[in-house]
Amino acid sequence: MSNNMDMDVLVIGGGPAGIGAAVALRSQGVQRVTIVEREAVLGGVPRHCGHPPFGMREFGRIYSGPVYAARLATLAKEQGVTVRVGTTVTRLEPGGRVQLADAGGRTSLSAERVILATGVRESPRSARLVSGDRPVGVINTGALQSFVYLRKSMPFRRPLIVGTELVAISAVLTCFKAGIRPVGIVEAGTRPTTRRAFTLLPRLFGVPLWYETELDHIEGNGRVEGVRLRGPDGAVRRIDCDGVLFTGKFTPEAALVRGSHLLLDPGTGGPVVDQYGRCSDPSYFAAGNLLRPLETAGWSFREGQRIGRSVAADLHGHMAEALASVSVERAEGIRLVMPQRLVVPLTQLPRDVPHVPQGLEHLQVRVAKQIKGTLELTAGGHVLWEKQVLALPERRLLIPLRHLEIPATSGTLRVAIRPGA
Ligand SMILES: Cc1cc2nc3c(=O)[nH]c(=O)nc-3n(C[C@H](O)[C@H](O)[C@H](O)COP(=O)(O)OP(=O)(O)OC[C@H]3O[C@@H](n4cnc5c(N)ncnc54)[C@H](O)[C@@H]3O)c2cc1C
Repeated sequence: MSNNMDMDVLVIGGGPAGIGAAVALRSQGVQRVTIVEREAVLGGVPRHCGHPPFGMREFGRIYSGPVYAARLATLAKEQGVTVRVGTTVTRLEPGGRVQLADAGGRTSLSAERVILATGVRESPRSARLVSGDRPVGVINTGALQSFVYLRKSMPFRRPLIVGTELVAISAVLTCFKAGIRPVGIVEAGTRPTTRRAFTLLPRLFGVPLWYETELDHIEGNGRVEGVRLRGPDGAVRRIDCDGVLFTGKFTPEAALVRGSHLLLDPGTGGPVVDQYGRCSDPSYFAAGNLLRPLETAGWSFREGQRIGRSVAADLHGHMAEALASVSVERAEGIRLVMPQRLVVPLTQLPRDVPHVPQGLEHLQVRVAKQIKGTLELTAGGHVLWEKQVLALPERRLLIPLRHLEIPATSGTLRVAIRPGA
């Protein structure tokens, strides 16, 4: 590792993925590892998820989000990771040079490798194109949790909840913990986006759940006073409420990538990476939910660890160069595939080079809407891998990379689902 860089590895984002990566780098003997985090403390999103379950696989215990976040922060410090909080990375430049801003002003740093671990965010109202007034009381789950758990305040008392992704469970639990009573939950589809068991939760709490119903309009002079909902028959009705809680519809926090020289993938909304988590500029890697919306904290932490080990191998000179690679395309109906590029031939990489752990062990796939059929990976019409699946938009589908035989001449691989029983 050369000494003319400010550090060996700079990790941007101190959530589970960034901490996992930093800790793994230190355990692999990488000396100068720094996490830069824009918030005042490490931990990422779990800091304001005041409910379980977090930490089972990492620590063998079930923690609430804030306790889990604190344990991760302690782990980073114990492992000798340098931490710079209250510092935002504002620009990525070729070759591992980044610009930062903190209370002291703007500065720049260079690192042998940079790991991007900036997470995701829920889509705000502005991205959902809902008409109406612009009153106070329209927020996302993350903001609700930060009001309730960090600031101990209530942004509303009777909100409408929009969406039924897994995070809506978090939203309902947070509301009830804070004494907030939602007036209802609306879902545009015919079933919950998450598993059917979701329907039990609102029933348990006595909150109506309306399917095939969309939020049409928000009313309020100052604060939210009501909403108009469009039901399955097209009829519009008004209900009183004092807030709107938009849940889910996650997009990677990829503003840095968008403004940089790195390739961005329209499917995931995050950077294009290979199976090591390596971006189109090999000085940059990425880990965690920035790669794809959305996985759990534990998954993100473990993924960060694996990417951290790949980066350590790269710094130690054990990484195969990204010379020959094939791109992975998605057929219609496949919402995202990640990694989008594979260094080939795979058979010569992780199995024959024991020091190079494959950061991403699977092709991770998500569909646009529910479908039953055969998930397949093909090269030039030849099926390399297939499996029967029942795919739901929020359910992860995994194609294991370990034993795939992909010829370097493949050019492009294609992921598709053939509908059928
Ligand atoms: C409302 C909600 C509830 C959830 N509930 C659960 C649950 O019960 N169990 C579970 O396992 N998972 C849960 N999750 C998912 C879990 O929180 C995430 O999977 C996990 O936090 C992802 O880790 P990450 O490190 O990729 O991203 P994050 O945790 O989002 O961390 C990213 C970090 O990067 C920082 N950052 C971003 N941009 C910059 C920049 N330019 N400069 C410096 N720092 C930057 C951010 O401040 C943040 O700290 C929930 C998520 C949400 C939103």
